[in-house]
Amino acid sequence: MRPLAIISDVHSNLEALGSVLKDIARRKIEKIVFTGDAVGYGPDPDECIKLIRKVSSVSLMGNHDMAVIEPGHLDYFNQFARKAAIWTKDNISPTSLRSLKAFKMTGQLKKDSIFLVHSTPRDPSAWNYLYNMDDVDTNFYYFSHRICMVGHSHIPFIAEQLPSGEIVLHKSSVKINSDNRYIVNVGSVGQPRDGDPRSCYTIIKNNTIQIIRVKYKIEKTQEKMLQADLPSPLIERLSRGV
Ligand code: ZN
Repeated sequence: MRPLAIISDVHSNLEALGSVLKDIARRKIEKIVFTGDAVGYGPDPDECIKLIRKVSSVSLMGNHDMAVIEPGHLDYFNQFARKAAIWTKDNISPTSLRSLKAFKMTGQLKKDSIFLVHSTPRDPSAWNYLYNMDDVDTNFYYFSHRICMVGHSHIPFIAEQLPSGEIVLHKSSVKINSDNRYIVNVGSVGQPRDGDPRSCYTIIKNNTIQIIRVKYKIEKTQEKMLQADLPSPLIERLSRGV
């Protein structure tokens, strides 16, 4: 398997995306895929979309990307997410909007037996979250590949399903066993929510799935969000990673 980096939930955070891409380059990983939510919450939608398009070979649709394209989806958002989505819609370029519309709901890397989706393989457009083991267990039935990569909850995990059906959770890395299958939440580049404010993404290298954390200039993103008059709870949460 060729080395691969999976990035997700960038949310218009250019400082975080820049740091992650630098880290990927440092590890000499050339193939990158993106599993959704380029925009929403943060201050740099155009720059992030442009960079994602440039570096990733697969780009998927997230619910925040969808909300900018089809405002009907705003109904499902809380007040702060809605405000940020409307801000994004008002500030995004026509070129970026066209790019977002080209994002796909699912993707796959056939040779590597990897399935890609923003929310869940069971129902990609329902935007459900994989929060508990029952849901993870059920979702193993909805893809045929060895590995499924998701984003959406901003909380990274690696779930390994043994041939017996038993599921083992790994926090940061696992060696791929050809008898087993995997659902991986790759974490969020631009708005981590697991209590660690560092940017998060996932790599596959040397037959190992590994969740990576990278420091970035949080204050710089926060300053831009303040200038853009984005909601203060969204600015403040970046410091705490929640
Ligand atoms: Zn997201």
